Amino acid sequence: MQLSFNSPISQLPGIGPNYQSKLFQLGINTVKDLLYYFPFRYEDLSSQKKIAELSPGETVTITATLWSITKIRSKAGKNLIKAVVNDTSGALDVIWFNQTYLLSVLKTNQKLNLSGKIGFFGSKLSLINPKYELIKETGEQIHTARLVPIYSESARVSAKWLRSKIYQLLNSSFLEIAELLPEKLLVEEKLPVRAAALKRIHFPNNLSEAEEARSRFAFEELFLLHLRNLSQSKRTETAVEQVWKVSDQLILEFKKLLPFELTDSQLSAIKDLKTDLEKGEPMNRLLQGEVGSGKTVVAAFAIFAGLTNGLQAAFMAPTEILSFQHYETLKKVFEPNFKVALSTGSKKLDLDNFDIVVGTQALLNQSLSFKNLGLIVVDEQQRFGVAQRSLLREKGKSAHFLTMTATPIPRTLALTIYGQLQISVLNELPSGRKKVKTFLVPNEKRLASYEFIRKEVKENNQVFILCPLISESESLLSVKSATEEYEFLRKEIYPNFKIGLLHGALSSKDKSKVVEDFRNKKIEILVTTPVVEVGIDIPNATIMVIEAAERFGLASLHQLRGRVGRGAKQAYCFLFTEQSSEQVTDRLKLLESHNNGLELAELDLKLRGAGDIFGTFQSGQIPLKTFAFINLDLITRSRVQAEKLASDELFELLKEEIGGNEADYSVSAKD
Ligand code: ADP
Ligand code: MG
Repeated sequence: MQLSFNSPISQLPGIGPNYQSKLFQLGINTVKDLLYYFPFRYEDLSSQKKIAELSPGETVTITATLWSITKIRSKAGKNLIKAVVNDTSGALDVIWFNQTYLLSVLKTNQKLNLSGKIGFFGSKLSLINPKYELIKETGEQIHTARLVPIYSESARVSAKWLRSKIYQLLNSSFLEIAELLPEKLLVEEKLPVRAAALKRIHFPNNLSEAEEARSRFAFEELFLLHLRNLSQSKRTETAVEQVWKVSDQLILEFKKLLPFELTDSQLSAIKDLKTDLEKGEPMNRLLQGEVGSGKTVVAAFAIFAGLTNGLQAAFMAPTEILSFQHYETLKKVFEPNFKVALSTGSKKLDLDNFDIVVGTQALLNQSLSFKNLGLIVVDEQQRFGVAQRSLLREKGKSAHFLTMTATPIPRTLALTIYGQLQISVLNELPSGRKKVKTFLVPNEKRLASYEFIRKEVKENNQVFILCPLISESESLLSVKSATEEYEFLRKEIYPNFKIGLLHGALSSKDKSKVVEDFRNKKIEILVTTPVVEVGIDIPNATIMVIEAAERFGLASLHQLRGRVGRGAKQAYCFLFTEQSSEQVTDRLKLLESHNNGLELAELDLKLRGAGDIFGTFQSGQIPLKTFAFINLDLITRSRVQAEKLASDELFELLKEEIGGNEADYSVSAKD
């Protein structure tokens, strides 16, 4: 069996349908995707010591033999695993919280590496919650005793699992890692070759190796993007089939359809749209705006303009929940004059003779036909891949195109990423909104927060309680899971309140039912996973509780917090942590003091390296992986190289990387 970068991951040993679908959610479908799933940081477990040399507070790796392992109960009644290990210098207690499964994994007399922090359990020096790795005959160590790559763990795939798979792949004799960039460029820019760089970015011997590798990939990504833009600018301009008439009067009429006054930045975005839409060439505009800034209504204006010109509009959103919400909103604004249809995977409503169709990727379905599609709107566009958006554009080749995102991207970078693209920004929230008051809550104040929530609910306000995972078994760590938390709150804390549970594993029907129940106040407290992150708009919700907040980046937390504070009432965000350190506290405290998404995104980049802002993007869409390394200098240098080397042969050679064949160029041209 020979593997190539394009081989589907199903061809790798140990990846069945279950993992395939989990990996799919991480944007990993091929061998290349897996190899290019870079760690966002490294944990330094390289310091190795003998047991006799240990002192409290240090983070070390020891190599020892397992003497005994048992389950014990702590004074607080928690299940603990206690092991005793020894090396030639002495013996040491090892304590794990909440990880009873270890009883069946670890056996006495096994030799293993243990990495973690030395602390006290009771009065005894112990290793607390260490990572473990059995010593293999081959001697390689990937989880301990080195700089260990840490991967983002969403979608129920653990970093440990990813680490093992990536290691196997990098060392597989079935895979040859060919170079992608021209040799001349590598020499001039002093970049490591791809095979070496891949090994070093995942399993570096030291941080400078990792950095060197990362800057190579940053360069690679930028270089390919510039080439894509250059190849596209050769393409001939298309024209819209019908030139729109958009009068000033139309803006006035549109305002009359709304229950509120538009903000200044909404108005100015609408004027941008008016100018674009009157032109004979297809619009390609990105509407960027803080969460809650009211992007939907700006899109509704473009739709209105299209409808009054006798054309249809398509509105694509990344989730069914969000599609349904937009469907309801647009119906309110446009019916009965125009007909709104809904097309998602599970729901198809009024699919003939519609003026506007709202939906998920289901809109890409062949059977959905447009008579005269004039406008395509893509909400939360970072959630879609290039291919999906291109397909939709294919449906309306010469249609106007409006994309929306709450993910802040500095302008220079946006232009690099998207090529020719116009940008409008909503930089204010509708008036009357109050800042969400945010608190990092220490554990001893948890009960007080529950009490506060109780009061809010009694005043008819609603609450989100967000947990990172669905069920406990998903992670090796003791992270709050939505299901368990739901049971706990329902039984122990709020037996008299109406509590609901929302997570990604529910059928889409159940998901929309839960959201609708929450919207209609049949649910007062909604325990949920981050499925609520994008777009959901429930103005009556005033509290967002985030459990294990340390597991999220600032940009994600800001998005999550944006689910509240969408009405006139004062809203609150409580951040709870499970594993806290000074670093974690300092980072999360930034949310108390900052309310601006762009600022937080930039801070996050500084603090977490390749921060998670771009982790929210679909893979393959923009160079998110190496973002921290992308600075102006790199943008310029890669641009110079791209201009120098750009040629039809190179476009042809790299066509898969820079956007496929000629037909694809023209569709995605304006992405
Ligand atoms: P986002 O930019 O996050 O997509 P939405 O479009 O969902 O924001 O709008 C958030 C909420 O603000 C919605 O309930 C919407 O009706 C409301 N809204 C939008 N514009 C205004 C405005 N100018 N004045 C008052 N409320 C507004
Ligand atoms: Mg939105």
